[in-house]
Amino acid sequence: MPDALSEYQSAFAAVVGVDHAFTFWKGRVALYAILKALGLGRGDEIIIPGYTCVMAVNPIVYLGAKPIFVDIEPETFNADPDAIEAALSPRTRAIIAQHTYGYPAPMREIIAIAERRGIPVIEDCCLANGSRYDGRPVGSFGLAAYWSGQWNKPYTTGIGGIATTRSADLASKIGQLSREEALSPGPKETLMLFAQLMIYRSIVFPRTTAMIQNVFRWLTKLGLVVGSSQSSEYTPVMEADFFKRMSGVQARSGVRQLRKLARGNIHRHEMTTLYDDLLASAGFPVVRHCEGHGGTRGTPLTSRTPPIDPVLVRYPVRVADKARALSDASRHLVELGSWFEVPLHPHETDLAAYGYTAGMCPVSEKACREVVNLPVHPRTNAKTAQRTVDYIKSIGPAA
Ligand SMILES: *Cc1c(COP(=O)(O)O)cnc(C)c1O
Repeated sequence: MPDALSEYQSAFAAVVGVDHAFTFWKGRVALYAILKALGLGRGDEIIIPGYTCVMAVNPIVYLGAKPIFVDIEPETFNADPDAIEAALSPRTRAIIAQHTYGYPAPMREIIAIAERRGIPVIEDCCLANGSRYDGRPVGSFGLAAYWSGQWNKPYTTGIGGIATTRSADLASKIGQLSREEALSPGPKETLMLFAQLMIYRSIVFPRTTAMIQNVFRWLTKLGLVVGSSQSSEYTPVMEADFFKRMSGVQARSGVRQLRKLARGNIHRHEMTTLYDDLLASAGFPVVRHCEGHGGTRGTPLTSRTPPIDPVLVRYPVRVADKARALSDASRHLVELGSWFEVPLHPHETDLAAYGYTAGMCPVSEKACREVVNLPVHPRTNAKTAQRTVDYIKSIGPAA
């Protein structure tokens, strides 16, 4: 039946430039489907950066596999290929390449390692929709990729997830899992999500965003919104209704949002260049971000990367006093984000239950202490950037 879901799937696959796309309730569910379709489970080790959210780790653990955390590169917040190399074992079965904040991960090195070992690479594109690496879009390098439509992502369908792959074989397995094992979302949660989307879409002024976030947090506490995460998801125990398909509400929203993605990405580029300039004048060390659109003045992010053209979902910056920066932000009408606060975000995560011990990924832990992120979404503009950087300047750069 040609419905909203199949329309969204074909439209998404076309935009990303892959053959197969499958919609799910959330991004994490899409990752679960990919891992399961690959037959990964007990005894298998999966490499993942130790600078992520716990929701990206849960699917690994749900399947009985073991996450192996690797440290990141300080400039791009992405997995350090040398750390991946050092983490390989005879049980390594897959590498998850996360494109953090929208910066493409070092795919050349990661693909080379994976090919040598004959294991798949799965790209985490939840924060990167439109970023390019070496002239090609992220999501087209690995065997599979997954994407999120949660509130803070490149565009939102309330919540939502997509798995993509260029492999016909893997696609048929993911399709089968989706048809035979995934549950349909219930009418109540679908209706609540619909109401939330209506409220969300009615917010147009950047100034209201910080306030609205607080309203949503408050409603979540009261159990009145479909939260992106439940507290049970901070521990590695899978809820009975975790493996769910996407609702028509999300898919219809996705089709509409996808049409605006290219325009939104141009806006993100412009905001990024603005922040580059403003932060540099404010005395912050700035690595110029963009190869293809006005950022060519600067140095590449790392010496080893081929040209990258990131579309940032948020603009990360290292500040002197992160706690103060966060606590005073909304008073200054500034919308600051803070991911990731711990290597497996958020603070509530039972790190030990995931096998993460303090000191495992020192570069990541330092980033967790220092980095806040600035908004570049479609409701921001030059005034937002100026106000935000004035505020960030008052906090000062990290030592
Ligand atoms: C948000 C996010 C996810 C999970 O996406 P959901 O749709 O919330 O399940 C996974 N990985 C990263 C890097 C994310 O930022």
